[in-house]
Amino acid sequence: MSTATLPQPIQLLPAKTIDGKKPTREQVPKGASLCEYCTAKCCRYFALPIDAPTCEQDLDFIRWYLLHDRATVFIEDGTWYLLVHTDCKHLQSDHRCGIYYTRPQICRDYSTANCEFDEDAVYEMYFETSEQVAEYMEARFHSSDAKTLRSPEPSLLPIL
Ligand code: SF4
Ligand code: SF4
Repeated sequence: MSTATLPQPIQLLPAKTIDGKKPTREQVPKGASLCEYCTAKCCRYFALPIDAPTCEQDLDFIRWYLLHDRATVFIEDGTWYLLVHTDCKHLQSDHRCGIYYTRPQICRDYSTANCEFDEDAVYEMYFETSEQVAEYMEARFHSSDAKTLRSPEPSLLPIL
């Protein structure tokens, strides 16, 4: 009987630093590539626009998305997005692209000029768990069904 061997996780190498720290965009020396100082933040997720929910059923779909590992949902400039945190299969241990010369157009179009290298902006809204969506559903639609999705309140401590 043959035994299948699982792929081993790749050993990630550190990105370049300046004085032991990740530099800010402005600190990276002129002529150097910003990507050398980055652990490929842009290759570790994908995000797709989704229809903005208009009813409880739509939000129930979103709740289903978030029952899956590494799925989140955010809103930016009024648009809803499904964000999946997953590494590109072609990312190498040095955080470089393993298919650089045949990489998809979306990767070619992405520029360091306004990438998330040292981005610290926050989303208009960000859902990480299905419970958060259930609470949002309850608040927006005064949904009685959503209440049933939440954990029951714990009983109060006895008064001594
Ligand atoms: S494009 Fe920006 S986020 Fe992507 S690897 Fe380069 S510096 Fe990092
Ligand atoms: S194909 Fe290359 S550039 Fe595109 S996400 Fe994968 S590793 Fe990054």
